[in-house]
Amino acid sequence: MSRYWSDIVSKLRPYVAGEQPRIPGLVKLNTNENPYGPSPAALEAIGQAADDRLRLYPDPAATELRETIAARHGLTADEVFVGNGSDEVLAHAFQALLKHELPLLYPDISYSFYPTYSLLYDIEAIEAPVDDTFQIRLADYDRPCGAIIIPNPNAPTGIGLPLADIEALVATHPDAVVVIDEAYVDFGGDSAIPLISKYPNLLVVQTLSKSRSFAGLRVGFALGQRELIEALVRVKDSFNSYPLDRLAQVAATAAIKDEAWFEACRTKLIASRDGLVRDLEALEFEVLPSQANFVFARHESRSGAALQAALRERGVLVRHFAKPRISDFLRISIGTNEECARLVSALKEILAA
Ligand code: PMP
Repeated sequence: MSRYWSDIVSKLRPYVAGEQPRIPGLVKLNTNENPYGPSPAALEAIGQAADDRLRLYPDPAATELRETIAARHGLTADEVFVGNGSDEVLAHAFQALLKHELPLLYPDISYSFYPTYSLLYDIEAIEAPVDDTFQIRLADYDRPCGAIIIPNPNAPTGIGLPLADIEALVATHPDAVVVIDEAYVDFGGDSAIPLISKYPNLLVVQTLSKSRSFAGLRVGFALGQRELIEALVRVKDSFNSYPLDRLAQVAATAAIKDEAWFEACRTKLIASRDGLVRDLEALEFEVLPSQANFVFARHESRSGAALQAALRERGVLVRHFAKPRISDFLRISIGTNEECARLVSALKEILAA
């Protein structure tokens, strides 16, 4: 006899995260981490904050961090929400804002957490397929909907939408919340932040995991006009009033202030990406145009799964999605130039075999 909770458990479809290996020495290009490490000033701030004050609860509103983020983007602190990674910020947005009698729209292909959250929060979702060149077609969003969520640049394709397209989407759906998930925007995409003052239905979500190299800290944030931010705060306060610990708050504040480190790392990374694209194309890979810290590439001669397995045997981790339409692709995070060179030489060996 099945118990009622067996039914609940069997219906949950959690997100499957990329491998975090326990073996040292692998070239880890599978989960879009930044190879250059967090701002030294932020690491120092953690050291200075790690003392007896940790017995006290942190500021539940993360005031200093929100003020710092707001100042950087020309907003006020009540237009900023912070959470434990942008995954948590997105989860709160799904719960607070994306459930509607009309469906939620998002692209197919996009971030695989969206179907997971839709199912978890019982949100009816319609997936709009990207076209043959993996571009998002704006015309597909020209239909009644309760809300829209789009990653820009998209994941895992890396393809960006220009600001004019985002504005058209937000402007033509004034009654729908439009969430733009900008996890990768700092590597060459167009941010929608300048549109916030004009559109009360726009929520922009960003993370410190990628361009700030703080995936291990777990800090993400949402920017939008006050009412949308207030919705997120109310859900957070009903869930966990202390989503960011003391160390995360001080480190993230220092990281956001360290513009020089941010600029230097993202410039190096963009140059490495351009170099890797050239090397992959020289090996006859098809590489989608990327504005992110990863590339999405396929080779006619091998399946994505076979290439991933062969790379793993050679100590190089990349991501493969066993999903129709993209199963022949590899998603390769941009590492240091040395890491990219190790990947390319492993690929040469595999393709010559
Ligand atoms: N959005 C997209 C599109 C992502 O790829 C990721 C990273 N997996 C996230 C959000 C979440 O990043 P984090 O929780 O580390 O901020």
